[in-house]
Amino acid sequence: MSTSKSPRSKLPPAKSHSGELLNSHSNAHPHWGAPPWHIDFTVRTKPVPPSVDFAIVGGGFTGLAAAAWLRRLAPEKSVAVFEADRIGAGASGRTGGMALAESAAGDPPGLGNVLGGLERILAELDIDCDLSLPGAFEIGRGKGLAHSPIQWNDSGTLRVVKKVPGGTLDPGKLVAGLARVADERGAAIIESHPVTHIEWQRSLVVHTVTHAAAPLVVHAGGSQCSAGKILFATNALALELTALAGRAEPKLTLAVLTEPMDEKRLEAIGLAGGNPFYTVDLPYLWGRCLRDGSVIFGAGLVDADDSLDLTRIDITTGGAKNLFESIERRIHKLHPELREIKITHSWGGPILFRENWRPVFMPHPQSRNAIVLGAYAGHGVALSVYLGAWAAEALLGRRKLPRWGSIRK
Ligand SMILES: Cc1cc2nc3c(=O)[nH]c(=O)nc-3n(C[C@H](O)[C@H](O)[C@H](O)COP(=O)(O)OP(=O)(O)OC[C@H]3O[C@@H](n4cnc5c(N)ncnc54)[C@H](O)[C@@H]3O)c2cc1C
Repeated sequence: MSTSKSPRSKLPPAKSHSGELLNSHSNAHPHWGAPPWHIDFTVRTKPVPPSVDFAIVGGGFTGLAAAAWLRRLAPEKSVAVFEADRIGAGASGRTGGMALAESAAGDPPGLGNVLGGLERILAELDIDCDLSLPGAFEIGRGKGLAHSPIQWNDSGTLRVVKKVPGGTLDPGKLVAGLARVADERGAAIIESHPVTHIEWQRSLVVHTVTHAAAPLVVHAGGSQCSAGKILFATNALALELTALAGRAEPKLTLAVLTEPMDEKRLEAIGLAGGNPFYTVDLPYLWGRCLRDGSVIFGAGLVDADDSLDLTRIDITTGGAKNLFESIERRIHKLHPELREIKITHSWGGPILFRENWRPVFMPHPQSRNAIVLGAYAGHGVALSVYLGAWAAEALLGRRKLPRWGSIRK
């Protein structure tokens, strides 16, 4: 595991939201801007298989972790991941990469040790994504720690109020690592194949005898694939498909990256220890350092229009543009060392909130043979991998879904 003291590496070529291409994945949702991460894995084009044991919809952390874990536990079972765009095109390639314990709603019964589970899964799959767990700073305008390394001016004085388990990782390396393992172990990853609908299984009752049901049929990018079971891992997108429209709220959330800072400057602003931070009161602000000394700051949510389709949002206009201006103003006022700091990247990504902030982890209302997993709010980096592996075990019938994951409406 690396720490903030580990040698700083140069980031790959990047772009601002008005600039040129950043990396091989920047063509996915260009109107959401370009994050600083690099996904160093090219998916080999494969034909859509006519049938699989397990179909996974969505190639982010959740879907890729489930695929890799399924093939690790049951190499005799066939797995296909259908991704509408490119792997990491959603939140996973646009996230801040803070690895946080528990869920956004705390520690629901039976959740277990999320960070320990993440470390174990990464070790078992042999994935290096620069995971570092020095602890995360909860910061607030209330009573701070006497020796708070952070003293920032933002609607009052922001100080560290508590240090909790957590840290950071490189999301680009995590997406690439999970995809590489899933691919090497034989899962078919099929990009540019949006799943448009499912033919749901219907039990045939003839003369009061229930016959074996037909498999589910996945329609993706003009092709069809029958599947024994399906995992939906589309997060804040495709809510009609996952039956989450009206049951969870999709938003676009925003982040910016500063130019790199030297150790002295990071020390002055309280971030030399590599601890990510997030506010426990409002206005909200979160962030983390990268290995080259640049810092991500995030704040602000943009609503989808009535269509609930986040892909229609363009971050260079309207409410998103205003929010970016506000974040930049706040950063410049936080500390004298940040007064002139340049912003090199601005981007947004999809995020899904359930009313009680607990993740959704339940059977699809249409079939017991399909699972819906997501809605981690801003807490999905560690949780998506941890619950993605759990979902793989549930698909294999080796583990139950947690009670807290269901929405009963
Ligand atoms: C800007 C930002 C910062 C964040 N920061 C943090 C953080 O620091 N720490 C933290 O814990 N969490 C953070 N989060 C949340 C975290 O990143 C997400 O919870 C996590 O990445 C979700 O992973 P996922 O695989 O479930 O979803 P996603 O990564 O969104 O993947 C869903 C995939 O499904 C695909 N898809 C959609 N529709 C279809 C379809 N019809 N057919 C096929 N594929 C489809 C999409 O293209 C996408 O690739 C952040 C989120 C954002 C946006």
